Amino acid sequence: MHQMTLAEIARGLADKKFSSEELTKVLLARITQLDPQLNSFISLTEDLAIEQAKAADARRANGESGALLGAPIAHKDLFCTLGIRTSCGSKMLDNFKAPYDATVVAKLAAAGAVTLGKTNMDEFAMGSANESSWYGAVKNPWNLEHVPGGSSGGSAAAVAARLLPAATATDTGGSIRQPAAFTNLTGLKPTYGRVSRWGMIAYASSLDQGGPLARTAEDCAILLQGMAGFDPNDSTSIDEPVPDYSASLGDSLQGLRIGVPKEYFSAGLDPRIAELIQNSIQQLQKLGAVIKEISLPNMQHAIPAYYVIAPAEASSNLSRFDGVRFGHRCENPENLIDLYKRSRGEGFGAEVQRRIMVGAYALSAGYYDAYYLKAQKIRRLVKNDFMAAFTEVDIILGPTTPNPAWKLGAKNSDPVAAYLEDVYTITANLAGLPGLSMPAGFVDGLPVGVQLLAPYFQEGRLLNVAHQYQLNTDWHTRTPTGF
Ligand code: GLN
Repeated sequence: MHQMTLAEIARGLADKKFSSEELTKVLLARITQLDPQLNSFISLTEDLAIEQAKAADARRANGESGALLGAPIAHKDLFCTLGIRTSCGSKMLDNFKAPYDATVVAKLAAAGAVTLGKTNMDEFAMGSANESSWYGAVKNPWNLEHVPGGSSGGSAAAVAARLLPAATATDTGGSIRQPAAFTNLTGLKPTYGRVSRWGMIAYASSLDQGGPLARTAEDCAILLQGMAGFDPNDSTSIDEPVPDYSASLGDSLQGLRIGVPKEYFSAGLDPRIAELIQNSIQQLQKLGAVIKEISLPNMQHAIPAYYVIAPAEASSNLSRFDGVRFGHRCENPENLIDLYKRSRGEGFGAEVQRRIMVGAYALSAGYYDAYYLKAQKIRRLVKNDFMAAFTEVDIILGPTTPNPAWKLGAKNSDPVAAYLEDVYTITANLAGLPGLSMPAGFVDGLPVGVQLLAPYFQEGRLLNVAHQYQLNTDWHTRTPTGF
């Protein structure tokens, strides 16, 4: 039962082969049995799950239908969930029970999705390995000595290990696409403004975007359908109609123009990954796509720009955690300054403190123009590169990551080495574009992802290309041994 995709579950529920309650119980038992190896959940919500599953079964019995009605999912632990701990992977929020549901959580619940729990993540979504979580590292089900990627490592490991079919995640600089690549999943970061950020605890507000992590493009289409849409509570939400993402999955790729940026195949890319990317290009050619070499000349400046902008926004966003209104408060503060200092010093981990310091520095008087403003100008150049490329091609294709998942602890002493691994993913966030990662093969038994980028609001095109690719390849069907 645990092998089923969301699409298969929807068919099984519609055909009354099993109930949502039965399926939910099977998956909860599986999580209890297998997750101790992975640490992919921070909280399990068994009672809520059974209650939601029973309600979904009742709605189906009353004649209602819907692809998410009775479908078990989990939420990355930065989506606020009413009355349930919403920790953001931080000691700071270990005691925080959200007073409301995030829009994404509310929309999925209304569609009948069943919440099994809250998944582990890098603290405040800062990281690429899920090692900065206060709740401990998450292990990659493909090799328990390797990281699952981050920051949505818990969602990725859980779905890859077949503990559940799909989960929500967020992507500020790659946190959906990179863990998808590292665990053999399909993950989609939507256009900025497509999915509401209301109730999604902020890391870098101009970059953050929620999206689906699942095993197939077909399932990403189902989950995104439940997440996307205008939300008046989010001032950057965009009032554009949401297309039917499942309806365009079958479109032909005949004549599709795919751009391959020459900058993507530079020295930093593992040659074995380069080869798998070439194979995926050939596969898409066979399906009718036309390949064109393109250039994204400002890509080399994207990492430094991102690692100014993201920490700058983080330093501002995280100032609300002051030990006064919510979250961790130190014992016996001597005065207000002592309360702030010790609450924040105790509540935040090392990576979060590093980013707050970098960000506060970049925003401080005298440095603002040199760093923050300069980074914003680079951001515009990165966007302009994409706009120029998309006048010639429909999709941009390349690797999701320069290397496969590294060993636990391998980059702990060198944060910059980890930042460099984000080279292919952060440009989509800087430009606000949608991006998808899908399975493209294995290197040393570890999964490799191919990334597709599309113009604004062309999520349907990304899902269509990925679905056609998945109809003709079987990488996405491989299951990690032991799960
Ligand atoms: N690895 C990037 C960072 O640490 C991206 C994280 C994310 O997308 N949340 O900032």
